[in-house]
Amino acid sequence: MNFGAQASYFIATLLLILGLKRMSSPRTARSGILWAGVGMVLAVAAAFVFSTRMYTLHPTLANAGVSGQRFGLIVVAIAVGAIPAWWSGRKVAITDMPQMVAIYNGLGGGAAAAVGAIELYSGHAYLGSLAFPVIAVLGVLVGTVAFGGSLVAFLKLQDWMGTLRFTGRHVVNGILLAAVAVLGMGSIFPHSFSGAGLSLSWTVGFFLLTSLALGCLITLPIGGADMPVVISTYNACIGLAVGFEGFVIQNAAMIIAGTVVGAAGGLLTLLMAKAMNRTIRNVWFSDFGDRKLPVQLADGRARSMKSIDTADAAAIMAYSENVIVVPGYGLAVAQAQHKLWELVQMLRKKAVKVRFAIHPVAGRMPGHMSVLMAEAGVPYDLISDLEEINGDFANADVALVIGANDVVNPAARTDKGSPIYGMPILNVDQAKQVLVVKRGKGTGFSGVENELFFGPNTRMVFGDAQQVIGKIILSLKEL
Ligand code: NDP
Repeated sequence: MNFGAQASYFIATLLLILGLKRMSSPRTARSGILWAGVGMVLAVAAAFVFSTRMYTLHPTLANAGVSGQRFGLIVVAIAVGAIPAWWSGRKVAITDMPQMVAIYNGLGGGAAAAVGAIELYSGHAYLGSLAFPVIAVLGVLVGTVAFGGSLVAFLKLQDWMGTLRFTGRHVVNGILLAAVAVLGMGSIFPHSFSGAGLSLSWTVGFFLLTSLALGCLITLPIGGADMPVVISTYNACIGLAVGFEGFVIQNAAMIIAGTVVGAAGGLLTLLMAKAMNRTIRNVWFSDFGDRKLPVQLADGRARSMKSIDTADAAAIMAYSENVIVVPGYGLAVAQAQHKLWELVQMLRKKAVKVRFAIHPVAGRMPGHMSVLMAEAGVPYDLISDLEEINGDFANADVALVIGANDVVNPAARTDKGSPIYGMPILNVDQAKQVLVVKRGKGTGFSGVENELFFGPNTRMVFGDAQQVIGKIILSLKEL
């Protein structure tokens, strides 16, 4: 590879790593995204310029050189990738971000797998040592499984598909896994199945199809609340697949970027699993997400929620000393973060001590609530995470829950049959008074009923978060 290509890939990976570093703080995150994006553009441009030059100049590849027609095809491919991505990136609502991450991640895995499959299919992967076909096959496997799984995750997050379980699926998965292993071996040693009349291209084709089916099938039964862990596991796998295929085609940018993404995704998976108090094995192989809470309370009483109006909610908070606000996904849906901060500032003017409690998986993506708070301009010293603030709920006069549900569900502490049992939650139920703002009686992402809403110290303030907070502000002005 020539100096120009090496230098471009080096600068591109440097930009990617520094961009990732900047993303670790809300203050520098925006510029981090920009840096990483510039790195990506540079890597694509360098791959385009230097590989087309290589094809034209390399003596053995000259015949397959980049004629006007191939050049046109590459430009069309770049446009097919870039235009919808640019358009959807600008249009996507922040609440739909997980679907978008799932689908674009998945496509990355698919692209890495396609690179590996072409290297195997064309025979290039067999020109060097055995390490090349082995790593190409591993990359195809990991990339295709992650591609299939991410597509299923996308459909589920988009609410276009539910959780699907059938008896005997473990046996089917086992058979598929065995087929994947045999076909993978057949792809490493290209003539293994020629005696059985199966050419290399068919072997690689079947290997791709079985890996894809495996990815889809292992993701279908995973329940809603486990989706964050699933998405970040696939994210890590895709990084790995890109790194593997980077090795096969000897592309330094792919190796470094893939490894960094793989490591970051792996770490994020562990942190997400820890935040939900689940082991990775438990998320992937247990049927925990099957069980739902009974509709009635444990003692058989009919459930009933007590509601109050916005004027009463305003009065309760205005005459409190200590209020803890718990934002959740509904706040993001209503885009009520600015109004919420306005409300909090009014309470603070009335000498009420107000803090924000942020759960690590509140919303629909890691750091979702922190992003909303930063957007509204809430100072960092008013924001506490779960460990910092959980002990303080017992002393709070009011816990104001806005559009949060699963992250404040006491069933996670007490009900062993619940799909969210074991997930650390914010101890909102321990506050003297709980005010919950939500539109109706809908469940949260996990689909589990929340006993908090039926608690003796809980009052529901029904309505869209934006409108409810607006009305509370009006009432506060009159007090
Ligand atoms: P939930 O999804 O549990 O609950 C959100 C609540 O907001 C709903 O019960 C809904 O009730 C209410 N709501 C919706 N729209 C509005 C609105 N406009 N105004 C007021 N309320 C509204 O949210 P949480 O933040 O508590 O929990 C996050 C869940 O998402 C967890 O289960 C987590 O595992 C999962 N998840 C998290 C990811 C992450 O990375 N953070 C990624 C993917 C999933 P109603 O319909 O009655 O209004």
